[in-house]
Amino acid sequence: MIITRPRDWSRIKANLAEIGARSVFLVGCGQCATVAHTGGEQELLEAKARFESEGIAVAGWAVGEVACHLGGTRLTTRKHHGELDEADAIVVLACGAGVQTVADSTSKPVFPGLDSVFLGNVIRHGVFEERCQMCGDCVLDLTAGICPVTTCPKGLLNGPCGGMWEGKCEVLTDRDCTHVRIQRRLAEQGRRQTDVLPPKDYSKKLKPGAINLRDGRTTRSGGEGR
Ligand code: SF4
Ligand code: SF4
Repeated sequence: MIITRPRDWSRIKANLAEIGARSVFLVGCGQCATVAHTGGEQELLEAKARFESEGIAVAGWAVGEVACHLGGTRLTTRKHHGELDEADAIVVLACGAGVQTVADSTSKPVFPGLDSVFLGNVIRHGVFEERCQMCGDCVLDLTAGICPVTTCPKGLLNGPCGGMWEGKCEVLTDRDCTHVRIQRRLAEQGRRQTDVLPPKDYSKKLKPGAINLRDGRTTRSGGEGR
């Protein structure tokens, strides 16, 4: 899931002040931002109270099922068109993908209410960790299912680095070194670390990513983005 965190409130207010907005419509997301407790119903109600206490009217709010789903978000904006008409701007408590989907669904000015920080694993309720940076050239088959480039703070494909001490990471000292973990798990599975991993082919990373299952296209640009 996409991990988000609250955005600097003063920046949101500055965004609104810049266009002279006196009223807003709030949009949340029923998926990632709800799980991350940044853009679910409760957080939208808290944001509503905060806006109102600072003299900005809230014309309405909605937590769509999935903010980054264009069809669903268009349905949400249609359903709330009366409240949206009253609002000078929309503030979206969802990831950057959700913000852009809302911006594609309305002619109103749209501002992010959160910052998107990483693709996260849910370790347990309220605890998220980054395990994959979606590099497009996965090496988990060779590293016992532990991503070296994401979980090593230095992003080292091969290691350990010279700072590893007694199996611990020199940067995140409370954690075992990623490369020690990889070697340990491979050994537990009766596998051996192969040669030094060759440089990753970052040209495989689609940027911007676009996959169209309808016509089988995988492209690095284009798509249906506007
Ligand atoms: S190697 Fe790349 S695709 Fe595989 S887990 Fe790491 S970042 Fe993700
Ligand atoms: S000690 Fe291991 S995990 Fe930590 S920075 Fe060095 S190689 Fe990466």
